[in-house]
Amino acid sequence: MPDFELSEEHRDLVAAVREFADEVIAPVSARHDEEHSFPYKVVAQMGEMGLFGLPFPEEYGGMGGDAFALGLALEEIGRVDQSVAITLEAAVSLGAMPVYRFGTEEQKQQWLPLLASGEALAGFGLTESEAGSDAGGTRTTARREDGHWVINGSKEFITNSGTDITRLVTVTAVTGTREASDGSVRKEISTILVPTDTPGFRAEPAYNKVGWNASDTHPLSLTDVRVPEENLLGTEGRGYANFLHILDEGRIAIAALATGAAQGCVDEAVRYAKERQAFGAAIGSYQGIQFKIARMAARAHTARLAWYDAAARLLAGRPFKAQAAMAKLIAGEAAMDNARDATQVFGGYGFINEFRVARHYRDSKILEVGEGTTEVQLMLIARDLGL
Ligand SMILES: Cc1cc2nc3c(=O)[nH]c(=O)nc-3n(C[C@H](O)[C@H](O)[C@H](O)COP(=O)(O)OP(=O)(O)OC[C@H]3O[C@@H](n4cnc5c(N)ncnc54)[C@H](O)[C@@H]3O)c2cc1C
Repeated sequence: MPDFELSEEHRDLVAAVREFADEVIAPVSARHDEEHSFPYKVVAQMGEMGLFGLPFPEEYGGMGGDAFALGLALEEIGRVDQSVAITLEAAVSLGAMPVYRFGTEEQKQQWLPLLASGEALAGFGLTESEAGSDAGGTRTTARREDGHWVINGSKEFITNSGTDITRLVTVTAVTGTREASDGSVRKEISTILVPTDTPGFRAEPAYNKVGWNASDTHPLSLTDVRVPEENLLGTEGRGYANFLHILDEGRIAIAALATGAAQGCVDEAVRYAKERQAFGAAIGSYQGIQFKIARMAARAHTARLAWYDAAARLLAGRPFKAQAAMAKLIAGEAAMDNARDATQVFGGYGFINEFRVARHYRDSKILEVGEGTTEVQLMLIARDLGL
């Protein structure tokens, strides 16, 4: 029987992050959303709490936790503010995790303590204009020259890539070609660490997004960016396999964030349904509203079980790819569906940006797209079924 009872340590973590989310993050969420401003102060405080180092060993400045601890923190933050949650998720799962999983000891010593402290952020630059779901379409190139990699190309939609505290972006680039068994020529993709102060690296102006307005997202341009050969992350030509692994793990974290969003919509809807009067009674006394909120609670619960299961498999060293895809699929849809229903419960107020449910309504859509679209999750699940 799987046991999803939280340990005392995990319960303490949940309580601490919940209190921080309610008392520190929530009061400034609407302002940062409206101003499209990055919440530097909140991020600094999260750094002091150790949240950016949650799943990393203490020897690298981490908290010695694991994917489960990270997911619990993301769920609590995702409940109140998805922009802050994605900032943490991307910094840990996409920014620091590739260094931890595939870096040399020297690369880990150089980057992880800094990233785990939250004083610096890293991003992961995979997506390009012609390479989104089909990441094999990468066009950015890196060629060797005098002990360096010279990188040219561009990236789209890179989270945490242009803040004042961003220090590193790991980019994928074509470093060669090889002949496949069917005689076709395939690109060899590698991952390379690019410190953001390297000449030729540029974060272009931020996107004007529908949601996640307080998170940092930029296109990147790379023009003759020269970094030492030692900045190769992992094995040359294995970048594609490496980032697929990073994305598999990252999906558990995104699913946890989305579960938090789905739960946040339940909490807000319950509170409002008890307060709001119509036709002489609280709207929560009407079965039409009760059933809507009951269904929302069931969605959030299902999403939670799905990410717990995927995380438990990862930690037990069991196959988890399909379960992570299912968790991401279920939780992303739960967040979007719950945001739509919570907005309905709020009536006209649900359409006013300063209300949390309105933010969840705008923020949740990307949970069905980022870090692999719904369709990509379905492809992964179908593949696991042998289709
Ligand atoms: C706010 C934000 C933050 C992001 N952060 C990052 C980041 O930090 N790093 C990074 O590298 N990327 C990031 N991304 C990019 C994101 O991961 C991609 O947008 C996503 O993977 C989809 O790629 P695409 O936009 O090119 O869509 P496409 O791949 O062009 O897909 C378009 C549509 O076609 C569907 N589709 C594609 N192929 C198939 C198929 N074979 N069968 C059925 N349907 C299919 C897709 O599901 C989708 O609905 C971010 C995006 C956003 C908006």
